[in-house]
Amino acid sequence: MKYISTRGLAPAKTFTEILLGGLAPDGGLYLPEEYPKVTRAELDAWRNLSYAELAFVVLSKFATDIPANDLKTIIDRTYTAKVYGYGRADSDFSQITPLRTLSPGVHLLELSNGPTLAFKDMAMQLLGNLFEYALDKQHQELNILGATSGDTGSAAEYAMRGKRGIRVFMLSPNGKMSAFQRAQMYSLKDPNIYNIAINGMFDDAQDMVKAVSNDHAYKAAHKIGTVNSINWGRVSAQIVYYFKGYFAATKSNDEEVAFSVPSGNFGNICAGHIARMMGLPIGQLILATNENDVLDEFFRTGAYRPRGTDHTYETSSPSMDISKASNFERFVYDLVGRDGEKVRELWSKVDAGGAFDIRGTEYWHALAKFNFASGRSTHQDRLKTIRELWEEYGVMIDTHTADGLKVGLEQRRPSLPLICLETALPAKFEETIVEALGRKPERPKALEGIEDLPQRVHVMDADVAALKAFISENISH
Ligand SMILES: *Cc1c(COP(=O)(O)O)cnc(C)c1O
Repeated sequence: MKYISTRGLAPAKTFTEILLGGLAPDGGLYLPEEYPKVTRAELDAWRNLSYAELAFVVLSKFATDIPANDLKTIIDRTYTAKVYGYGRADSDFSQITPLRTLSPGVHLLELSNGPTLAFKDMAMQLLGNLFEYALDKQHQELNILGATSGDTGSAAEYAMRGKRGIRVFMLSPNGKMSAFQRAQMYSLKDPNIYNIAINGMFDDAQDMVKAVSNDHAYKAAHKIGTVNSINWGRVSAQIVYYFKGYFAATKSNDEEVAFSVPSGNFGNICAGHIARMMGLPIGQLILATNENDVLDEFFRTGAYRPRGTDHTYETSSPSMDISKASNFERFVYDLVGRDGEKVRELWSKVDAGGAFDIRGTEYWHALAKFNFASGRSTHQDRLKTIRELWEEYGVMIDTHTADGLKVGLEQRRPSLPLICLETALPAKFEETIVEALGRKPERPKALEGIEDLPQRVHVMDADVAALKAFISENISH
């Protein structure tokens, strides 16, 4: 299996060749040359596999240049109840992603039982083990540099902690994260994890990362890399739980289902799109946004209008507060019939701060064939959904999952079972839960009292030279 760029101008590469990199050299994103197809016989054989077994058969179709035994070892080490055992006390952790039925035909797929209580662990934990394996083979090192306002940074740190050949330098805005988020990251004692609190906002931290990444000589000399949401390894790992959720919610492979996906960078739902392209019977993919509704607007009207960071709202589902959906280009490549030249034309507008509109073109008609639906949800909707679910079923959900459930119930075709992806646990968003329910969410036992642990963090002004000096100093020994 080879990987090609959505912009059509980069040489084809293997899975391991693109694993440690980011964008393709032509500015596009990597995708398989052709999606592997899953036969009916395979679906039948896969129905009763464990999560790790399923991950192995699915990922074997993508990571074709990793020897089967090695891939199996990596996967078996990743998808265990020890790694994904932090969720609700009554969850069946042996399933890794247990399915919780709310009412007949309406389910929650628990993706948030990993160490940072968000679905990003599902892929990031695998990435940590894959990175370590690939770096070992190439006798290489990697220094991951990132900026976070919460979720991604902690997921990356918990995936990379203690890994050979890897260091993580994670920037966060000083004093801007919740006490729980700070404790999660800053209490890590692993010597390969460096937390840097920047005196400034998240955007200042992100600008510093960009400045270092744009210094190509420094970047190469210091082996700087990233783990952002466009990484193909992350997208491919997310395909697995669509299969797992489908099997758990159906009795036979003749049935179709709907998935509802709280969306920001389009990474999660992109994996669902690919699962459907492989042949998984998904009748509907429902995309949910919060007040930052750039993707909802596209699926309703055909206009893709990224808003720019100064028109992005801060909401109570913060991990969906995006202005530009970095993985969206992957879907558009399929939508325009895998025409790299067309993608270059569309993104020449987007990259210059503009927009595009496919309404009235052949692509608007093509869109209908992909079976998407979409909707948006507001702070008041979140409070209402969280309250209703708690009162009716005694199940507490987080703000992002509430966006997904609200839009999913609104947009589903009633004939299809609805599987809502749970992307975080309520314990991460205590403030809004208290606002909705007047009580605090339960916290997994292992994380009780985490705020009282000693913390390790280096505080720094938003100064690129100081950041470079800090990195240089810490990788020289
Ligand atoms: C990252 C994240 C999302 C959005 O996922 P995308 O892949 O960026 O669309 C939704 N919910 C939570 C809790 C997240 O951490």
